[in-house]
Amino acid sequence: MRVAVVYNQQKQTIDVVQHLLKLLKKADIQLDEREPEIVISVGGDGTLLSAFHRYSHRLKDVSFLGIHTGHLGFYTDWRDYELEELVESLKNNRGQSVSYPLLDVVIRYLNDKPDRHFLALNESTIKRGSRTMVADVYIKEELFERFRGDGLSVSTPTGSTAYNKSVGGAVLHPSINAIQLAEIASLNNRVFRTLGSPIIIAANEWLEIRLQDSNDYLITVDSLDIQQDEIDAIFYRIADERIQFASYRHMHFWHRVKDAFIGDT
Ligand code: NAD
Repeated sequence: MRVAVVYNQQKQTIDVVQHLLKLLKKADIQLDEREPEIVISVGGDGTLLSAFHRYSHRLKDVSFLGIHTGHLGFYTDWRDYELEELVESLKNNRGQSVSYPLLDVVIRYLNDKPDRHFLALNESTIKRGSRTMVADVYIKEELFERFRGDGLSVSTPTGSTAYNKSVGGAVLHPSINAIQLAEIASLNNRVFRTLGSPIIIAANEWLEIRLQDSNDYLITVDSLDIQQDEIDAIFYRIADERIQFASYRHMHFWHRVKDAFIGDT
């Protein structure tokens, strides 16, 4: 069993990591930053997002596992006081994992610059700052609508509880193989019209967003800001790759949603 540990720099996290490293050593579990089988993230959801991007070239060979040192996260199942139990589970590892869909993002440029390809675990957004974003939205090569507003967000099922939810998107169970397009402050009046509600795209469909006035947009992929350039279009579809989580334990999804957003009623 080869393990890598990715963590943030908060004092509480560093203490947890030191304790975890001691326990891993005692259990004869090998640390391997280059070719781990399990990546343990210690911190919050943002830490797991950076762990995902660090190892996104090895998704077939790696499973992720999150320990949270702040409040309960969506990608972090283990609490910082459960390290002994966690290491014991790793020792008895039988390769159990659960996998979830990812978002495939391709950016096509107007100049001769080659396309850029990304994978998102949560979402990708396209936004424009002070001026109205104008973009044609195609579903499977057919023009669906001309969007005017602040921007668009395309999210995975596990990302549906993140930025997507803040802009009014639906929360999707992560076993559903689909991606979701949500509007960010669309302009809707007698002249300009969009659907005005989030839509869920099936596994055999894809989205193409063709930007008008193409040089001052901000594209994000999870917590990464993608450098602006003369962008022609952005293509979104469900990725062939999936993320695997080591499933020594698994919290019921709707229980987690309730815990995070509603609390005790
Ligand atoms: P972070 O750990 O600071 O994350 C920011 C917040 O988003 C945290 O409260 C985190 O728990 C929550 N979060 C992240 N992924 C989530 C998920 N899948 N479900 C529910 N909550 C989730 O780290 P960061 O690097 O800033 O995180 C980037 C992510 O933050 C983006 O992918 C985006 O989804 C989210 N975000 C949300 C908003 C918003 O809701 N208005 C704004 C910017 C970014």
